[in-house]
Amino acid sequence: MGVTPVYERERQELYEAHLALEKYGLVAYTSGNVSVRIGEHILIKPSGVPYSSLKPEDFVVVDLEGRIIEGTKKPSIDTATHLYLYRHVDWAKSIIHTHSTFATVWAILGRSIPVLCTAHADVFGEEIPITEYAPVGSEAIGKAVLKVLGRSGTVLLRKHGVMVVGTSVDDALKKAIFLEEVARIAYFATLAGRPTPLPEDEVERLYSQYHTKYGQG
Ligand SMILES: [Zn+2]
Repeated sequence: MGVTPVYERERQELYEAHLALEKYGLVAYTSGNVSVRIGEHILIKPSGVPYSSLKPEDFVVVDLEGRIIEGTKKPSIDTATHLYLYRHVDWAKSIIHTHSTFATVWAILGRSIPVLCTAHADVFGEEIPITEYAPVGSEAIGKAVLKVLGRSGTVLLRKHGVMVVGTSVDDALKKAIFLEEVARIAYFATLAGRPTPLPEDEVERLYSQYHTKYGQG
């Protein structure tokens, strides 16, 4: 029996979020990661650990400057990106990075995802913006994300994947899952014809309705 690691509850929540990414087909083998902010600490996936062998105790605790507080594994290569966003976005409580297929297709094409369907307007309330190209492993991606980050907290990383900023692990997860759905729908619609985006005032109405009236309150 080892010593119980700190943030046991958050570790379990983060673990389940990683399993959900895999279940929804948003990640493959070791790609993608989820982090959660707990005060001045961030809990994040270790680098290069496949989902099949990931355990709650594997997550690494770092501070906002990236110093390891607890953990024997190396934190994700994307840690600098996560930390940059936590330092600059005050409502950021959880961040998800994936290369989910259809969203990444838009990212590779260099195109933001227009608001073509009501589900997109409901959840995101804006076009999904796209960053300039930025290399992995430094703060460059965080800076590029911050430049285009809107109220959806959801951004395409040019030629790379997606970054989702949430107010909770559930919020980030929901947006990561819905992003792939709207990206897929928009992709096929664009392939099949010439869809026009929903009018801005209707996007506004749907977003507001969804965020004030939908669900169980
Ligand atoms: Zn990546």
